[in-house]
Amino acid sequence: MRQKVTQMTDATMTQMHVNLTRVEARLVRTPVSTPVRTSFGIMHDRPTLLVRVTDASGVQGYGEVWCNFPVCGAEHRAKLVETEIGPRIVGQEFSDPRTCYAAMDAKLHILRLQTGEPGPIAQAIAGVDIAIWDMVAKRAGLPLHRLLGARTNRIPAYASGINPTGVLDTVARARAAGHRNFKLKVGFGDQTDRDNVAALAADLRPGETFLLDANQGWSPDQAGDALRWIEAFGPRWIEEPMPVDTDIPAWDALKAATTVPIAGGENFLTRAEYDRVTDGKWLDFVQPDIAKWGGFSECLPVARNLVEAGLTYCPHSLGGGIALAASAHLLAAAGGPGLLECDVNENDFRDEVFALDLTEGWVTLSDKPGLGVNVAALERAFA
Ligand SMILES: [Mg+2]
Repeated sequence: MRQKVTQMTDATMTQMHVNLTRVEARLVRTPVSTPVRTSFGIMHDRPTLLVRVTDASGVQGYGEVWCNFPVCGAEHRAKLVETEIGPRIVGQEFSDPRTCYAAMDAKLHILRLQTGEPGPIAQAIAGVDIAIWDMVAKRAGLPLHRLLGARTNRIPAYASGINPTGVLDTVARARAAGHRNFKLKVGFGDQTDRDNVAALAADLRPGETFLLDANQGWSPDQAGDALRWIEAFGPRWIEEPMPVDTDIPAWDALKAATTVPIAGGENFLTRAEYDRVTDGKWLDFVQPDIAKWGGFSECLPVARNLVEAGLTYCPHSLGGGIALAASAHLLAAAGGPGLLECDVNENDFRDEVFALDLTEGWVTLSDKPGLGVNVAALERAFA
């Protein structure tokens, strides 16, 4: 019996081992008929920055780097992956993905300080980390959520990215696709916001809910004013009502002044920021973006800490199919009542890479090894 356990441990250790021969990046820009609008900028196409890692035995894994803004910055991040991260880890031996993540983080520490680019570098590292986890899960023959200890393959979801124009049309399409929870963007002027929120709230069917995202668009005073009228409509949360660097007393004051739960965290850049909110609890829903910071290696422990502290972990994701799949596996593994963010704006490549199995507001993850994404579609991008 003891020998059997030892063998299993050795097998697991071998599967977790990281010894890369190649790290590649490819940027895919998918045309759209309707630009995606936020309160801070417009996307005229949908960029997806893919990462592919290959190990010494030829097994490959795929990752994705957040790269939406600035629009010109996606190409730069692709170069960061191939010229700054790849050469620092290829040919080196790591006992497991977390050790490799720590090495990437340490090796790029000075460059991060020197360039003043902690964000792009963190995003590039996150994409490589996702690819490495996909690779080790494939080697283990397990879907990633199960490798990470998930007890379920079903997670609740919400439709995200609902633009301020054509709100009810977008909601109808999302509902037809299986969504039951809908997140509207606000911060486009008082009257537009009031009209849209009232229309969405009136359109909901029994059992449906709605959420709001201001994308850091309000000052503390504006956020307080908006939440006074928003409260009556009962949204599930208001996301990023103020800039992420607003001081903590202002967050505490806003939270004390409203019954609307507050969400945020997609723009935190360090473990310390998540730890501070886990302790201070000025947010109710906390939203790390796995392709923007931390990958699986850092976001899983952060998410589990949040759940343990009584906060709700809800993955942020507005990108391609790998980022969405990775967020789903992480949510299943982290536990808690959080919802998966599913962008409903047009993005054919995202849908091809990871076709959601969505029914009545719930996503079911497949049993395919790794992220369970469409590898043929990804290979075309690297051809
Ligand atoms: Mg957001």
